[in-house]
Order: sequence, then structure tokens, then C-alpha cells
Amino acid sequence: MSLTRTTCPYCGVGCGVLADADGTIKGDPEHPANYGRLCSKGSALGETINLDGRLLTPQIRGQRASWTEALDLVADEFSAAVRDHGPDSVAFYVSGQLLTEDYYVANKLMKGFIGSANIDTNSRLCMASSVAGHKRAFGSDTVPGTYDDLEEADLIVLVGSNLAWCHPVLHQRIAAVKEKRPDLRIVNIDPRLTATSELADIHLKISPDGDIALFNGLLAYLVAEGMVDTDYITANVSGFDEALAAAKTCDPTESGLSARDLLQFYALWAKNRKVVTVYSQGVNQSECGTDKVNAILNCHLATGRVGAPGCGPFSVTGQPNAMGGREVGGLANMLANHLDIENSGHRDAVQMFWESPTICQQPGLKAVDLFEACARGKIKALWVMSTNPAVSMPDANGVSDAIANVPFVVVSDIMARTDTGDLADVLLPATGWGEKDGTVTNSERRVSRQRAFLPTPGDARPDWKIICDVAARMGWGDAFSYDSPSEVFSEYIALSEATRTFGRDLDLSVFADADYAALLPTQWPQNNHRFFADGKFYHPDGKARMVAIATPIRSLGSFRLNTGRNRDQWHTMTRTGKAPRLGAHLAEPYVEVHPDDAAALELEPGDLVQLNNGANDCILRALVTPRVAQGHLFAPMHWTRQRTSRSMINSVTPSQTDPVSGQPALKSGSVSATRF
Ligand code: SF4
Repeated sequence: MSLTRTTCPYCGVGCGVLADADGTIKGDPEHPANYGRLCSKGSALGETINLDGRLLTPQIRGQRASWTEALDLVADEFSAAVRDHGPDSVAFYVSGQLLTEDYYVANKLMKGFIGSANIDTNSRLCMASSVAGHKRAFGSDTVPGTYDDLEEADLIVLVGSNLAWCHPVLHQRIAAVKEKRPDLRIVNIDPRLTATSELADIHLKISPDGDIALFNGLLAYLVAEGMVDTDYITANVSGFDEALAAAKTCDPTESGLSARDLLQFYALWAKNRKVVTVYSQGVNQSECGTDKVNAILNCHLATGRVGAPGCGPFSVTGQPNAMGGREVGGLANMLANHLDIENSGHRDAVQMFWESPTICQQPGLKAVDLFEACARGKIKALWVMSTNPAVSMPDANGVSDAIANVPFVVVSDIMARTDTGDLADVLLPATGWGEKDGTVTNSERRVSRQRAFLPTPGDARPDWKIICDVAARMGWGDAFSYDSPSEVFSEYIALSEATRTFGRDLDLSVFADADYAALLPTQWPQNNHRFFADGKFYHPDGKARMVAIATPIRSLGSFRLNTGRNRDQWHTMTRTGKAPRLGAHLAEPYVEVHPDDAAALELEPGDLVQLNNGANDCILRALVTPRVAQGHLFAPMHWTRQRTSRSMINSVTPSQTDPVSGQPALKSGSVSATRF
């Protein structure tokens, strides 16, 4: 049997998959992300490719329509809104599920032709704080290392990352190293005991947002013990004195850890030169997410532990193409190809390359602000692509009302019924995984192909094509006249070449002569490259910057609400919900409650508990477990309004954001809890 070589559509590990239309799914033994491994979700992909529930024709206000009717209406409404209310009266909300080619043309249409930067993405919910932290420290949004560093490290620190459930193949890779090399030390820093903690030598049950106190304390300890690399700092780092002064003002026990635990961790960190700190949503989804990122980066910079084998900070992205979206400018505060909206030279260069009539002049609305603008009536036309914000955004009920308040809403999706699609004036059927072609970039900067191995269902079209069809109807057909995703990819690479003189990290020349059809998984700027090995960074002075970080003041409600993923589900279960064996893992919405809290609330295991944030509530089944700390609750994010009547956790999550990155604090809810 000839299997198609493609890439898993779920998490940012970006595993290679061999697939066939008969449902055969195997791990690709030649893909450097997974070397043949797959997790439960990836293995079950074959069970999710049926057409049950699919959107197969365009619809206008619930009625079947032709593509011509639907596209004409979308183009007319967006053109009218721009004409009557200006370019900032329209917005796109896109997705880390889009392929790079889809992302590229959506960004080009909004920023270069409509002339607004109101295009943001659900990746804002995932890694915006890492982007902001990277830019503050490195002068660029650069992930320095590679997955191989995990296998070369002597100490792996997993912060705010349940790798075993959220990036399972990376967890498998680390577990394999630990088996071969038991002296590899693994520290798991998480307020909850998770499946990841089981692999760790030490689990540090930190207080929520206690990361700054912990890593500021580490910096002060390293200095006190003479373990910083003063030569490296002198040559390559600025801001050391200020960062240290701020660190010294903080009390490390505010992390919630005992002096003994702190000392044990600090000594381990100091002793092992090869340290990789892996961090994820537990760091990013916070009102101080960017500061937490920089507190971690400060420790790596002060010791020169970046850019060398087995060393470095490592942000792992949640989504399959969060990195590709960053690269082509899918965030409201970025231009294409890691260029900056605020830089007039960058704007001019991109506009010249695109030969576009305009270019956005300032950053657009980030996700939370975008939906607040919808609620205030500022957005007259909204296009949601490949995501379900009426469920996945914090304060999801408010977001749902906000979308309903927009005069004209378009949703492109593979599914006929979603909470967001139900609010749309126009539904556009998109092709899904296995039906479309393009590229994705994983957490280690590796670009891989997604390839079609299924026939196109119904009238569905790939997202890049739908966007180009609308752009043509808005009068820009020449600039969007691509015949294939490979033409889009070529233009993206050419833009990188045309702007090379700006001297930034995103060097895509390795793809300049690549055969798109046969493209092998390839890292930019080249395979196995580690950034910053030469001590050169992307700030104008060529140095990295340490950032002075103060300990946040935290105000907590009666219970601190943490949210996250289950092992066998993906986001709002559009795809994984089709596989019965995935549903068997944890079959219904639940909330983890500490036994002492359960006793105080007179809750028995399995009782229903009502969470209330003062405005909204949700009702979940109590899973009584000491995995969560007393005073804390944890609930998974997957269940939608359509799957459960009142059990959608984002009904009660807060819309507060990190002030630097705009990332919502999805792990920082404050709720009351009562027996229902
Ligand atoms: Fe897919 Fe992530 Fe599992 Fe790999 S680890 S198979 S990319 S879900």
C-alpha cells in the first residue's frame, strides 16, 4: 500500500504521519519530530476522517447557496464596511489550525489590501506571551534550540507544561532518554500533580503565578553562588544589574515552595550546565505571562545557557501551526515574515513587495480586544476561520454575544454546526486535514508538508482559495491569482529574500529552490541549527536583554480556577469527538477538587458542583483528587455549549490579559464553588 506522507493536525510537536484514505494511520519513521511515534490522538486520526457533520456547501443565513452567491455577498459586505466605516471596521479571527499558505494570504489581504491589522488568531491564547518574551530578550521571536536538545540535556525543567498529555510524543522522547540515561534529571513545576509529574524526579507544587518568585530567586542564588557567566554577560547581555536588583527584592518562598525545595532545585540547576527549560501554557496564559517568560530567560542568559547543545529555554506551542502563523504575521501586532508593523522601513518594504494599495500603519486588535470591539459595535464585518471562539475564548458567553452583535459574520469551517457557526450570516465549507495541501511549522522551527490523501468533499475549498476568491471580488484579483498553495509558499519565501537586508532571524533561503511537492521536513534557517551559539542577538546593539521583573501582586477569589487539556481530546472536540476510543478516556466535563475542599463543600466524588464567577456559572461533575492543591480547581477546556448545556468552562474564565502580550489569563480564574 502506498501511504501519503503528511503531518498530524493537532499539537505543536508536529509529528510525521503516513496516511491512507482507508483510514490507515502510522507514525512516519523518517520524520525527525517523532521518528515513527504517535500519541493516542494521532493514532486515532483514521477514525475522524468520515464526513459526519461536515459542512459541504456554502450557506447564507441557513439556506444552501452557490459559491458565487456566498463569495459575492462576503466581498460586498466587507467592501461596504471598509468604504462606509474605514478599514478598522472589519476583522479576521483566524487559527493555528490554518496552514501557512492560508495564513499568508489572509494576512496579506487584511494588512496590505484592506489596510488594517485587525487579524488576530487563536494562537493569541497559546503562545503570545512567549513571543513577547522572546522579543524583549532576544530582539526577535526566536525559539533557539531543537528537540534534540531535550535528548542532550542533563536537566530538563518542565514549567507549566503537562507534556505527557499536551505534547505526548515529546514526553515519549524524554521518557526514552530517561530510561537509557537514568541520571538525566527532570523537574516538573506545576500547581497540579499531572501525568507529567510521574516521569519527574522532583515535582514542585508551585503556587499559581509563583514562577516569577521562583526564577527571580534562582537568578539571585546563581549570583550569590558565583554561578553566573560574567564573561558571557559582559560580551553578550545587557540589563543584568537591573534584573538582579529586581530579583533580589523578591522572596522566593512566595512561589509557594519551601526553602528546602527551593534550595534543592536551585542547586540542581547550578550543578548541571546542560539545562533545557521547557514551558507552555502554565507560563503563558497569565496576567504576568510575559514576565514569567523573561524571568526564565534571564536565568539562561545570565549563565550563557542558550544556543549550545542541550541548553536553552524552549517554548512548546500548543497548535500545529502556531509557529507558521507567527512567521507569516498572523498576529495583530506583527507584519509578515517576522517584520514589525511599527517599523516604517519594514512596512514600506512589504507594501512594495506586495505591490499593494496600502499597508496597515499600526497594530490591530488582539483577540480579547477584538471581541470587545465587536460588543461595542465597532466591528461591522467579521470573518472567523477554522476556529470556534464562542467556546474557546475566555468569557465565552460574552464573546458569543459580541459575535451576535456584529452586523455581518462569516465563518469558514469544516463542520456544519459549531457554536460560532450558528451565529454566522454566511458559512463557507473548508477542506480539512487530509483533503488540503500546505505547510506547517512545529515548535522547533521545522516546516513540514501536510498533503492531501482524501478526495475533496462536496463543494469544500481550501482556505487559501476561499480568501483569494473574496480578495478577487474586492478588486484585487491580480495580487491573489495563485493557482496552488505552492505558489503562495514561493511568494512567502521570496518575501523573505526581498527583505533579507533587515537582518532578522527568519532566513528561509533553505527553501528557495525546494521542490514543494517532495519537500522534506526542514528547519529554518537550516536543519539542526541552534540560534545564538555565537552570542549574537537581534537587538540593535547585538546583545540579549535581561528584563527586570517584579513579583506580581495576586488577588485571589474563593477558588483559583485552572484550565487545560485532556490527553485524548483536542480543543473543542470537532475532530477528536468523532473517535469513540478517545471519548472513553474522560467521557464528560469535570472539575478536579481537593479532598479537603470537597469535605468543606459537602461534596462526594461524582456530585455536581456549580462554579460561579459573579456573572456566569457552569456545572461540572466533581473529581475529588489531591492532584490539585487545596483552594484550587482544575477543569478541561473541551466541552462546547452544543455538547453540554451548562458545562462549558469558558463561561467562567476571565477576560483579563497579560498587558504586554495580550494573552488571556485562562489559568487564573477566580470562582466560588457550591454543591449543585
Ligand atoms: Fe499529533 Fe501532537 Fe500526538 Fe504528535 S504528539 S501525534 S503532533 S497530537
